[in-house]
Amino acid sequence: MAKTALITGITGQDGYHLAQLLHEKGYKVYGIMRAQQNPRRKNVETELPYVNIIEADLSDLSSLVRAMETAKPQEVYNLAAISHVGYSFKNPILTADVTGKGVLNMLEAIRLSGGEKTVRFYQASTSEMYGGLEYNRPKNGYTEESKFHPRSPYGVAKLYGHWIATNYRESYGMFVSCGILFNHEGERRGLEFVTRKISNAVARIKLGKQDHIVLGDLWPKRDWGYAGDYVEGMWRMLQQDKPDDFVLATGETHSIEEFLTLAFKEIGIDDWKPYVKQDPAFMRPAEVDLLLGDPTKAEKVLGWKRKVDFPGLVKKMVEYDLELESDQKTS
Ligand code: GDP
Repeated sequence: MAKTALITGITGQDGYHLAQLLHEKGYKVYGIMRAQQNPRRKNVETELPYVNIIEADLSDLSSLVRAMETAKPQEVYNLAAISHVGYSFKNPILTADVTGKGVLNMLEAIRLSGGEKTVRFYQASTSEMYGGLEYNRPKNGYTEESKFHPRSPYGVAKLYGHWIATNYRESYGMFVSCGILFNHEGERRGLEFVTRKISNAVARIKLGKQDHIVLGDLWPKRDWGYAGDYVEGMWRMLQQDKPDDFVLATGETHSIEEFLTLAFKEIGIDDWKPYVKQDPAFMRPAEVDLLLGDPTKAEKVLGWKRKVDFPGLVKKMVEYDLELESDQKTS
C-alpha cells in the first residue's frame, strides 16, 4: 500500500525537492503551509499539484494535531523553520519559537494524535549547530559525535530542536532521526542565501540587468552540496530498521571567493573584483568561519553519497538563473 508523508516547510527549497522525490516513489504527500493567503501557495499548487496542502503553523500545536489527524502519515519530515542565519539575529525570539519550540509542538502533535509508536519523524538538524570555531574543528570534518557550539540564534534554536527530538527518541521510543545537513543549495535556494544571491546576480550582470553585487564577508568557508541529493538522504534515514543521526555533507569546503570565481567564469569573466562591493550590512555579529562535514556514516549505513560536486553546483545554479532572468520568469 502506498505510504503517506507529511512535510512541514513545503514552500521551501527542501520541501520542493522532497515532495518530488516522495511523489516519484508513490507516496501520498501532504504539505503544511503557514498562514492565510500565503503568497507561495500558488507556486506549490502549480509546481507540485499532487501535494495536499494543509494550513497549519509550527507555533500552533492544535493546528498540528489537526494536520496529523487529516493526513494520518507514516512519515513526518520537519523541514519548516525560520532558516536564515542573518535574519535570526534580527528576530531571535521568533526564531526560537518556530525553529526551536516548533519541533516540540510537532513531536507533541504526533503523540497526541496517537502516532507515538507508528510514525517515523525526520528532524532537519543543521551544521550551524557546530559553529565552526577554530578550537572545535575536527581534521576530517564534523561527525555525529562532534561538539556543538552554535554561533547564531538560528543555530541555538536548531540545537534545541535536535536535543528535544533526541529526547523523544530516548524517552518514548519514538522513531526519530536527525539529519545534520551541511549547506545545500540549488536552483530553489532563496535569494537571501549567498550562493543564490551570487548566481542570480551573475546572470543579471551577464544580461546587462545590473552591474555589480553587494556582499558581506567573502572568506567564510562552507561545505556546499546540492539540495536534490540531500533529500534522498533524508528519505533513506526513515527507511532504516532503527532511528539514528546522520551527517550529510560533501566532505569538501570552499570559500565564498571560490564560489564567486567559478560563477563569474561561467559568464566568461576571470576577474570578479570590479563587480563585487562589500557592505557591513551583510556581515553578522558572530560568524561561522569554516564548516566541513564528514559523511562517512551516511555513506556506510545509508549508502548515500552526493552526486553533484562543487563546480557542478555552481554551473547548475548560474545556468538556471541565466534562463530564468532571460525569460523574465519569476523565481
Ligand atoms: P548560512 O551558512 O546558513 O549562513 O548560509 P548563507 O548563504 O546565508 O551564508 C553563507 C556565508 O556567506 C556566511 O558566512 C555569510 O556571512 C556569508 N555572506 C557574505 N555575504 C553575504 C550576503 O550578502 N548574504 C548572505 N546570506 N551571506 C553572505
